[in-house]
Amino acid sequence: MKLLEEKIKKDGRVINDNVLKVDSFLNHQIDPQLMNEIGKEFASSFAAEGITKIVTIESSGIAPAVMAGLYMNVPVIFARKRKSITLTDDLLTASVHSFTKNETNELAIAGKYLNENDKVLIIDDFLANGEAALALVKMVKQANASVAGIGIVIEKSFQPGAHKLKEQGLRVESLARIASLSNGEVTFITEKMEELV
Ligand code: 5GP
Repeated sequence: MKLLEEKIKKDGRVINDNVLKVDSFLNHQIDPQLMNEIGKEFASSFAAEGITKIVTIESSGIAPAVMAGLYMNVPVIFARKRKSITLTDDLLTASVHSFTKNETNELAIAGKYLNENDKVLIIDDFLANGEAALALVKMVKQANASVAGIGIVIEKSFQPGAHKLKEQGLRVESLARIASLSNGEVTFITEKMEELV
């Protein structure tokens, strides 16, 4: 998505070879116009899938997920992060190790919001090692709902997440795909590079 790539080039900050900071439009301050375009793009990518619910993870997945939900006219559920979950009835749960914070969180979704008839689109801000997305997939499956696809705002394609998800037969659509963050520079995957893969 051209607009997103331009925004990343202009306002993203490369922290090191593995981490990109986008606090000025996605992870802290949020650019509503850009989120609107992102929501529209996800909605058109997954239009044919019969999506009934969107599932994301707090907090940075919420803005793009809500915009997609608006265009798809479906509810948006965000998995809540807890340091530990006291066992309560009817919770879908998984644990996830945060790539950026180096901590493990328990995730929970109330079981009443997902059922076996749901076709779920999972949305997240970043895809790195795939931990967060796989934890969401696990929770959707606990509800016997099906995962129709995974929508990612920024995929770091040099990390293994996208490959892991696709290996499981999951459809992954990423709006910006980063080939490298080396030398303090963001390099996107171009169509030419894709032909070579
Ligand atoms: P994964 O679970 O795929 O390893 O990492 C995805 C999660 O880690 C995302 O939900 C996101 O919050 C965070 N994350 C991973 N890489 C980056 C990054 O380069 N920048 C930022 N801001 N967050 C990241």
